[in-house]
Amino acid sequence: MDENPICGGYICSIFEVKMRCPYCQYHDTKVIDTSHDSHGGIRRRRECLRCKQRFSSYERPLLATPLIIKQDGAREEFDRQKLERGIRIACAKRPVSAEDIERLIGQVEVELQRLGKAEVSSRVVGDLVIKGLKELDQIAYIRYAIVYLRLDDLYALRNEIDRLLLEKK
Ligand SMILES: [Zn+2]
Repeated sequence: MDENPICGGYICSIFEVKMRCPYCQYHDTKVIDTSHDSHGGIRRRRECLRCKQRFSSYERPLLATPLIIKQDGAREEFDRQKLERGIRIACAKRPVSAEDIERLIGQVEVELQRLGKAEVSSRVVGDLVIKGLKELDQIAYIRYAIVYLRLDDLYALRNEIDRLLLEKK
């Protein structure tokens, strides 16, 4: 058995997840080997206590989503529902499906997690949404930019679009 240099096999045995056998659905299995990968994941080789079939399971650490720093400096939790409301309004009567919106929000959350920071500016979130919307639908993208970035005239809107076009190059 390969032992994790950090926990010496102690923590990962405490947090071992009980798993049903995928062959016979029996509720208990024996772990016969545990190994760690470089991403912090744990692979366990298991054997069913009833049918004796062997299988592997993989446990992956869940990344935390950073806190969002609002424009007034207050911090808040990343709020999927709130983000979804804003995106739905921008996509009203546009050919963008509920699945597209759901996928976009998922992508934004994953990208925020990958930053590996405790907190990020709401501007980062807005930029990720805008970039995603641009791929989905140009009109929804412009609507979102107008509201989210509080663009109050055509010049501000043009500057914003230019900025995003430059970033994309
Ligand atoms: Zn079994």
